[in-house]
Formats: sequence, C-alpha cells, structure tokens
Amino acid sequence: MTARIIDGKAFAARVRGQVAEGVARLKADHGITPGLAVVLVGEDPASEVYVRNKGKQTLEAGMASFEYKLAADTPEADLLALIARLNADPAVNGILVQLPLPGHMNADLVINAIEPGKDVDGFHILNVGLLGTGQKAMVPCTPLGCLMMLRDHLGSLSGLNAVVVGRSNIVGKPMAQLLLAESCTVTVAHSRTRDLASVCRGADILVAAVGRPEMITGDMVKPGATVIDVGINRVERDGKTRLVGDVDFASASEVAGAITPVPGGVGPMTIACLLANTLTATCRAHGLPEPEGLAV
Ligand code: NDP
Repeated sequence: MTARIIDGKAFAARVRGQVAEGVARLKADHGITPGLAVVLVGEDPASEVYVRNKGKQTLEAGMASFEYKLAADTPEADLLALIARLNADPAVNGILVQLPLPGHMNADLVINAIEPGKDVDGFHILNVGLLGTGQKAMVPCTPLGCLMMLRDHLGSLSGLNAVVVGRSNIVGKPMAQLLLAESCTVTVAHSRTRDLASVCRGADILVAAVGRPEMITGDMVKPGATVIDVGINRVERDGKTRLVGDVDFASASEVAGAITPVPGGVGPMTIACLLANTLTATCRAHGLPEPEGLAV
C-alpha cells in the first residue's frame, strides 16, 4: 500500500483563507480588526524566525500584529506588567508569549498571567481545564491543526483507536483530550511505555509527538492507519542539514492509509491555527458567532 499524503501546506493555506474571510467580515459588519500580540524574550534564533513568520501571516490575514521584543535579562516583573497592559488593551484579542523563556522566568506564572480569553496558545491552566472537561476552550494550535486534518481526512473519528506517542503539555496531552472528545479510544504512550511497537500497531490514528528522528517505523504502523507526524528534527545527512519527523516516512508510507510529511504536514498548520484562534478569541470577546470549522 502507498499512503495518501495529507498536504498540510495546502490545508493551512485553506485555513488562512477562511480566517482572512472571517476577518474581512468582522471589519465590514462590525468595524472590528482582530489583533495578535506576540512577545519574544531574548534572542533565540529559532524563536525569532517563528515570531517573524507569525507577524507576517497575521498581517496577511488582515489582522493587526503587535510585536514586543524584550532583552534576555528583562526582569520577570516587567514581562508581567507588559502582559497586564496587553490584557487590558481592547485592540489586542490574542496574546502569545514565545517559549522557551529565559531561565530566570517562571513560564507557568507568565502564561497564567495572560487573560484566558486572549490565551491563543491555549496553555493557560483555565483553558487546559476547560479542554479536559469538554468545555469551550482556547485549544493549543498544533493539536488543533492535527485534529482539523484528521476530521478532513476521516470525517467522523468516533470509535477509532487513537494512539498518541508523547505526553507533553503542548502537544501530546491536549491531542489526547481532543481525540477523546471526538469519541476515539485513546492510548497515550511515552518513554516508559512497554512494547511501543505493539501499542502503535493497534492504532487507527497514530500521532507521533516525540522529538526523536524517524523512530516510528513501518512495522509499527497498522495497515491503512492515518499517521500524523508532529515531530520536527534536524539531522545531518550527506553533509546537509535536513528536517525529518518522528516517523520514518519511507517505511510508514508503505503501510499507512494516509500520512503527513515533514516538512509540509503539521508544521504549516500550527501558525494557521494560531490565526484561527485569534479570530475565534475576537468573536468570543465581542459575543459574535464563531467562524465555522476553525474552533472546537
Ligand atoms: P517533549 O520533549 O516535551 O515531549 C516528548 C514526549 O515524547 C515525552 O512525553 C516523552 O516521554 C516522549 N518520548 C521520548 N522518548 C520516547 C520514546 N523513546 N518512546 C516513547 N515516547 C518517548 O516534546 P514536544 O511535545 O514539545 O514536541 C514533540 C515533537 O514535536 C518535537 O519534535 C517538536 O519539535 C515537535 N513540535 C512540532 C510542532 C509543530 O508545529 N509541528 C509544535 C510543537 C512541537 P516522557 O514524558 O516519558 O519523557
């Protein structure tokens, strides 16, 4: 079998288009322009690239983009004061603090200082609790993107066996909650899981969010399964740096029914979902109907 490739790049472009339409309607009908504030502390080069991309795509969607770059040695109190100002600013509908933060800052404290309705990353403890109890939450962008692709590819997920490999707070755990809410039978695997291969082979939906290059191989995939590869790993091969996922694409795509590639799978969906969350947050803040298909 050769798997169908789930094209995250094309899907993300579609989502961005839907967001831009929603933004244009908000402006035309209500005079509202959604605004996203992104805060970067320090000079991590990878984070700077993410923040630049986020700002560019925010503007392309017709939203206002506010960028705050703080020095690495900024006192935590100054960051908290900035968040308090953004919480109170009606032009700001979404706030994202780029992680990781410098070591002298308490990331939990900082994230939990964001007004939950503006927490477009979905990391605030209130949003975590809302998602876990099946209530309307701001949902973390990467798992939201994975869910959108799964729904698009499979339609109903009800009753399917889903295995999520990885239990981080930003990907694995919220992914498992979302799949549970879709009535999947969910198994969360991690570094202590015994016989990972046989656990994975039971999966109709296999989500890999581990951070280990190509560790999920074709023999661990159930024939016909849908495989979502969240991993982004840089490896040196033939003297070049290449991006690979947590799934060995060559062998897994021989067995799976559908699979996301790396790059071009989950990655592009993450920023698209950040824009979707900002639009959703704006609609919720103004008591307006939410755009269809962009939130759960
Ligand atoms: P974390 O390092 O926070 O979590 C990794 C998880 O994998 C942990 O739960 C860990 O288990 C588990 N794990 C590690 N080794 C094994 C193993 N041998 N067998 C089974 N499970 C294992 O990573 P993240 O969740 O933040 O990210 C995962 C991957 O996704 C990374 O490659 C990251 O770059 C990528 N990513 C991609 C995004 C995108 O936009 N596409 C966004 C976010 C992340 P334990 O808990 O027991 O230690």
